[in-house]
Amino acid sequence: MPVHTRSQKSTKSESRVEGKGKQNMEENKRKGGEWGRAWEVDLFSYIGVCGLLMFAPVLVVYFFVSCDKYQCALSGPLLDVFSGKATPYDIWMKVPYMTSQAWKVGLVWISFQALLYNVPDVLHYIIPNYKGGIRLGSVTPAGNQMWYQVNGLQAWTISHIVWFANAFYFNWFSPTVIFDNWGGLLWVANITGNFVSVFAYIKAKFFPTNAEDCKRSGNIFYDFMMGVELNPRIGKWFDFKLFFNGRPGIVAWTLINLSFAWKQYELYGHVTNSMILVNILHCMYVVDYFWNESWYLHTIDICHDHFGWYLGWGDCVWLPYLYTLQGLYLVYNPIVLPPVHCAVVLTLGLLGYYIFRAVNHQKDWFRSHDGDCLIWGKKPEYIQCSYVSSDGTERQSKLLVSGWWGVSRHMNYTGDLMGSLSYCLCTGFGHLLPYFYIIYMTILLVHRCIRDEHRCRCKYGKDWNRYTARVPYRLLPGIF
Ligand code: NDP
Repeated sequence: MPVHTRSQKSTKSESRVEGKGKQNMEENKRKGGEWGRAWEVDLFSYIGVCGLLMFAPVLVVYFFVSCDKYQCALSGPLLDVFSGKATPYDIWMKVPYMTSQAWKVGLVWISFQALLYNVPDVLHYIIPNYKGGIRLGSVTPAGNQMWYQVNGLQAWTISHIVWFANAFYFNWFSPTVIFDNWGGLLWVANITGNFVSVFAYIKAKFFPTNAEDCKRSGNIFYDFMMGVELNPRIGKWFDFKLFFNGRPGIVAWTLINLSFAWKQYELYGHVTNSMILVNILHCMYVVDYFWNESWYLHTIDICHDHFGWYLGWGDCVWLPYLYTLQGLYLVYNPIVLPPVHCAVVLTLGLLGYYIFRAVNHQKDWFRSHDGDCLIWGKKPEYIQCSYVSSDGTERQSKLLVSGWWGVSRHMNYTGDLMGSLSYCLCTGFGHLLPYFYIIYMTILLVHRCIRDEHRCRCKYGKDWNRYTARVPYRLLPGIF
């Protein structure tokens, strides 16, 4: 049975607060925004949501055209329009066509990933310490807990074996097939992302997986964007969030980079050190994601964010197109970095990755041992917190205040940002476009800090204030 309610399993030590469930739900509704997304929508959020729905797809297309037609100069299309050299219609005509070849590539890819998603994991039997296979997710606000088939590392490995086997042996398709169809695939990704989001919206209305975990504001745009269902599924195992979050976008990430590297080789007869560096740093991040996929079941994306356009379209379009901009840039601008530049970038990338992973691991270690462990060689210091979940059960939790979590409240984001900056620095200083990633990640993670802290303050109340008094900075000690 993949789903059981936490209330059925609650231990005797968890005291049931009679009658408080409904009252607490009402309280949540009143305060708004505790669990992932808001119950009520203010004008600011409404405008923001409509703006994103309209402009995010335009932005992705604009980036593509800037690269494809203006050698990645973001100012290129605008300068042409303002200087009278081209009309907005002329720029629109530079947008690539949807092609049947792109549809073939896109549909084969999605179907292949859907197939791999349904293959039970065998890697956890073979690789020591790898936590794949059937894993339990977090308790949802309504008290549900779901089982997940964690097999992302296996899907990533098989996909890459197929890619390399094809490139060096079978020659079924060109290794540059992704780059060569990048424009046409933009249509495929957009149509797929929108289709999935509309489907998720309709599904939430007519056949939700866990109706008690649905959230609606009554504002159609907001609900479509932020999602209604927390964990939509088809059947027992096909989990929308785990599938679309991780595959097809993240498995594709490293293949997209490889396709860009191969294209560089085809065009210039060599692969630049900058391209190799981008491939290595991105690959490290992607493999880390799949190695820790069972851990991701407990992150904000899976635990708190509902599945709407933000994730559905974001995973299909935003992630593959904008997270890979550095590699695309290097196809059009094959810069060779001085060895010192390479060394600095690599050091920053490795250090960022180390901090990101160490901080995440420390919290995981601390929580999974319920505080009974060592942090940096000492007994951990923590704040004992209590809260009432929306099923009315009073629960206990601990907030770590020593180790990395005593340095700042989100050092994992700081490490992530250091890594993100290192990817951008691989592209030198010629253009702004490949730096979009660090700008976006800074906005995303600062916004996430604020969102998460708002939720934690609502959840833990005074205990959270004790925590912020003890650890006053969010990202950079002494600065922010
Ligand atoms: P965290 O892993 O930081 O989780 C935040 C939660 O941890 C809080 O809601 C709270 O949950 C708990 N918590 C907060 N402080 C403490 C503490 N001191 N001790 C113990 N528990 C605490 O955030 P995310 O899930 O957002 O991020 C996970 C990782 O994913 C990060 O490293 C982030 O950088 C990365 N990421 C990457 C993205 C990308 O696109 N590349 C996008 C988003 C995230 P509780 O209710 O359990 O107390």
